[in-house]
Amino acid sequence: MITSKTKLVGLFGHPVGHSQSPLMHNAAFEHKRLAFAYAAFDILPEDLGEAVAGIRALGLRGVNVTIPHKETIMRHLDEIDPLAARIGAVNTVVNDGGHLIGYNTDGTGYVRSFVEETGVLLSNQVVTLIGAGGAARAVACTLADKGVREIRIVNRSRERAQKLAAHISPWVKTSVYAPDDGNAVMTDTTLLINTTSIGMYPNVDEMPVPLDWLHSDLIVSDLIYNPLETKLLTTARELGAMVHSGIGMFINQGALAFELWTGEEAPTDIMRETVLKQLQQGGQ
Ligand code: NAP
Repeated sequence: MITSKTKLVGLFGHPVGHSQSPLMHNAAFEHKRLAFAYAAFDILPEDLGEAVAGIRALGLRGVNVTIPHKETIMRHLDEIDPLAARIGAVNTVVNDGGHLIGYNTDGTGYVRSFVEETGVLLSNQVVTLIGAGGAARAVACTLADKGVREIRIVNRSRERAQKLAAHISPWVKTSVYAPDDGNAVMTDTTLLINTTSIGMYPNVDEMPVPLDWLHSDLIVSDLIYNPLETKLLTTARELGAMVHSGIGMFINQGALAFELWTGEEAPTDIMRETVLKQLQQGGQ
């Protein structure tokens, strides 16, 4: 129930109509009986500065930030958390009495779900990332922070792969491979992560790597969560590999934002249940 005590949080993006975040967060607030409500705000790039001023003027407790504002919002904030600064993007803002602090929970959400679901030690991993976009940057910076042994980047645009490699190379051993360098890149890769949109609904029959890159000793992870299990993951699982779906990253990036806004532990089971129900009902 929304009352005069309700604290408002929300999502800044363009578009936002497809987002599962309002449902997920409102279910969590209701479950914990917290006087919070979450709304989605469709904000054009040219209106972002005024929208951020609105966070202060209206006293919103914070917002999540999605495409296309994750980088451009940074110049409007008062403080940037060190990991978000290293990633170069913000997906969560906290309003502390008018002082706006930017965080990035995408990479930490990914790592939290990976460790919880697989039980695997990250420090032993030689990681191959397929893709070099915004999600790849958040995941790569966080994996570097957690001390993985090496990160290899394979991307359609070599220039973008090289840019990401240069970005993370101060913290981790890094190299760039061409998409047709399968043998070389996969030789001693232990963790393969798809950070591209290849295989996402409606293109569910597409695979980001050839079949012969996959084998039973790999851990294969996909950032995509619609479908819950991509063709990449189904194929890898059938070959005996351990697999990890993007749903956990989505739930945990939200859970970490929830914890920053409320100071309470997030009810991740309720959040997962809500998103799964929505996806099963055909919500995109
Ligand atoms: P982005 O910045 O636009 O980057 C997209 C990446 O995918 C680029 O590396 C791009 O290569 C590559 N790519 C796209 N289509 C391709 C194709 N047909 N063939 C080869 N490469 C292709 O997007 P993003 O924000 O990083 O998001 C990427 C994926 O991560 C999306 O599927 C998104 O749903 C998922 N994601 C999941 C979560 C979660 O919580 N689970 C969070 C964020 C993102 P080029 O550089 O060559 O263009």
